[in-house]
Formats: sequence, structure tokens, C-alpha cells
Amino acid sequence: MNEKKAMHAQSIPELAASLRDGSLTSSTLVRRTLDRIRDDKLNAFITINEKAQAMAKQRDERLHGGSASELSGIPVAIKDVLTTSGLRTTAASRILEEYVPSYSATAVAKLEAAGMVVVGKTNCDEFAMGSSNENSFFGPVKNPCDTTRVSGGSSGGSAAAVAAGYVPVALGTDTGGSVRLPASFCGVMGLKPTYGRVSRYGLIAMASSLDQVGIFSHTAYDSALILQTIAGHDPHDATSSTRPVEEYAAHLEAPLSKITIGVPREYLSEAGAAGALMQSAREKLGGIKRVSFVDISLPHTPYALAAYYICMSSEASANLARYDGIRYGSQPDGAETLDEWYRAARGRNFGPEVRRRIMLGTFALSSGYFDAYYRQASKVRALISRDFEKAFSRVDVILSPTSPTPAFKLGEKVSDPLLMYLSDIYTVSANLAGIPAISFPAGLHEDLPVGLQLMGPAWSETLLLQATHRFAPSFV
Ligand code: GLN
Repeated sequence: MNEKKAMHAQSIPELAASLRDGSLTSSTLVRRTLDRIRDDKLNAFITINEKAQAMAKQRDERLHGGSASELSGIPVAIKDVLTTSGLRTTAASRILEEYVPSYSATAVAKLEAAGMVVVGKTNCDEFAMGSSNENSFFGPVKNPCDTTRVSGGSSGGSAAAVAAGYVPVALGTDTGGSVRLPASFCGVMGLKPTYGRVSRYGLIAMASSLDQVGIFSHTAYDSALILQTIAGHDPHDATSSTRPVEEYAAHLEAPLSKITIGVPREYLSEAGAAGALMQSAREKLGGIKRVSFVDISLPHTPYALAAYYICMSSEASANLARYDGIRYGSQPDGAETLDEWYRAARGRNFGPEVRRRIMLGTFALSSGYFDAYYRQASKVRALISRDFEKAFSRVDVILSPTSPTPAFKLGEKVSDPLLMYLSDIYTVSANLAGIPAISFPAGLHEDLPVGLQLMGPAWSETLLLQATHRFAPSFV
């Protein structure tokens, strides 16, 4: 992997410098990228953007004129749950197999306006539901570090595309860990911003109160640059914040004052990869000047996964009601009544995990069960947020493993949904509380990448990126 990295994984500033001094053109860069994607054995992409080459040519003209931004001419890959105008967007589902949107997600439109070239749409779990990228109608994504293993989900294609060096950065989405978990499994960085930091307009909704657009990169700088480009208020998304966007990249090198890292007792397990990882993290980070550790407690953590799976599936069941096979999706044969039509279209075109969640969510919201499930889960969610508020009155950031294990074998957990859901144990709380979190590569465990997660208070992206920038080199 290191060799591959050295050959292909150039950072944005490196690529931008070559594009500016004329030693590289966007046309060449994009052509090479497309060639590699066409040759891809990881199944990281669902659709290649055939217009990318023409876009690169336009970028070259602008670069020539000297008026281009740092991102101009640089390729980017987009998870296939973010709409792209004129470019097929499937959500990795058969029900949207032929869907070509008439508009682009705000995050995508902003990257294009800054000059980036969308080279393709990346594979993911169907409607972003999964932890291994094995729930895609288009087949699983293989992990570039070991192709017998999963890439992690649900944004597995974006993680693999960055890890394999096809693109320097990619967009994903994170509802319960879908950026951080695959980032950890593939050995790259994955940032989930604060809920409301990036517009969700054009994000095919899974659970609207948890969904957030996230970023894959190799460096904190690249992540910062992309975040400041895509963040900000959007009149199309009432939940996007009007809070001003910070210059995250410019602040990266600012001298960090004292930083107190909280280690939640509930996230510690003595055994396995996660235990070993936390121990080595304490040793390595403890040696950095002005960094100190404090043991903390997030007492409602044991209920987070249950609360997440109820809130998420309830919202998903409502969001997915629109896929009726009439407005979107392929039409069923031989259905005579409307009921038969719905049953045939939804039964045939949704995969098993999506059907499971629609049923779970519909049950949790149904009359007679609503109080016991959805309302109860919402209360637990509020308690989890309060846990974090209390913790952040004592510490600046919270450190944990991103995942209990490194990437597992393809097929290992597909027949046991509960076991699969346990992969999300360290990531879902940040979504329930709406706070930002980042996973950064923390070395290898038995030859497989493992990630560490930093969580911070709402709107602390600058601090999280600065801390990652400062900590990540200790693990190389
Ligand atoms: N693995 C989690 C789930 O399946 C998270 C998914 C996501 O963040 N999109 O719900």
C-alpha cells in the first residue's frame, strides 16, 4: 500500500502546484484518473463521468488564464447518494438504477464551482444502509489494503478510491459512521462535520436528523480545504447553519494551546485491536507537549446503538416511502391494482437490508408502539447529547477507537445483522448528538489499517482538524 501511496496519492497542494507551474494539465490528470478507474478491480465506482475529460479541458483554459482556485482542475469522487445533474445517481439501489437527476447536491455544485472535476460516482451500501458496503445492488467494494476484506460502509467506494490513490479526496455521507468507519478500514482520514455545517440539499435522505456530508482525504489540510468549500448556509436546506464558515485550512498551522483529551471509560475494551490501539495512542500522544489525558464517563453510551437503530430506521421508513415505482424507479410487470404495484415495485427493487429497516422503522412509529420505541429512543438521544455537553466542559476533545475491529472478511458478517450493527458502536453517538468527529489513520493492527476517532463540541471543526494535523504524524 505504501508504494501505491507514494506513486499516486498526491495531496491537493502538490497537484495544484504542478497544475500551476504547467508540469501537469488537468486534462492529463483526469485522463490518468479515468484510466485507473476503468481498470478498477475494487468495484469502487458505479458510474464514470464521461463529461469529466471535457470539464478538465475547460479547467486548463482557466488555469492558463491564471484565475483559478487551488482546487481547480483536481479530480474528486462523489458517493452515489449525492445527486449530480445529468449524471446517474443510484444510491446503490435497483429502484434508482436509471435515475438521472436534474440538479446537483449543493456540496457537489460548490466543488464544481471551485473548479474540481467530478470523475465518477462511488459505490456504497444501498441508501447508505450498512457498515461493510456489502448491501450494494452493484456488489461489494473490496478493501485496497487486502482485497479479501470489506472496505467498510456505507461510503466504501469513496474510502477505497482515496486509499487506492485514484483521487486525492472524495465526498461521502455519515449518518451513523459511514465516513469514519470505511476511512478507518481503508487507512485514510474521514471527517463528519457538525450537523448543519454542510447543506444536505441533494443528499438522498436516509435519516434526515442524522445525515451529514463528509470528506475522505489523506491529510487534514485537504479535508480542511474541502470543508471550507462545501460548508455554509443554503436556502435549500433549512437545517443548514447560518454560522460563518471558518478558514479551516489557514488555521491548521496555528500554534495549538494546551489540549485536554478525554478518554471515555465506556469506550474502552481491554481486548483486541481497539484495546491495543488506545494503549498505544496514550503512549504516543502523551509524549506531545501540552497534551494531557483525562478519564471521563459518557454514561448513556450502552444505549446509543439501540437508540440510533430506532431513530434511524424510523426516519428512513418515512424517507423511503417516496420510492413507489411511479415517480422513481423501474415499473413492475403485471401489477393490476395500486397496492399490487407498490408491493411489486418495492418488494423487487429494494434489497433485504433496506426492507428490514423500513419494517423496523414502520413498527417503531406505529400507533401503540411509538411511545415505547421512537419516543423512548428520542429521550435517550437527548441524554447522550447531555453526556457530551458535560464532558466538553472538562475536556477539549474525546478520543476513542473508530471501530472495534479492523476490516473484516467479505461475507463474514452479512448473515448476522446484529453483529454488523455492532461495528458502529463507537461512531453513532456523534450523529445522535450532532457533533463533529474525525477518524485518522493510527497505524496497523496485524497488517490492517486501524483508525482513531476524535470527537469535539459542535462547531469545533477547526480544533479537530488542528488536533488531527498535529497527532496523525505520531502514527506514521
Ligand atoms: N452503519 C450505519 C448504518 O448502517 C451507518 C450508516 C451511515 O452512516 N450511512 O446505519
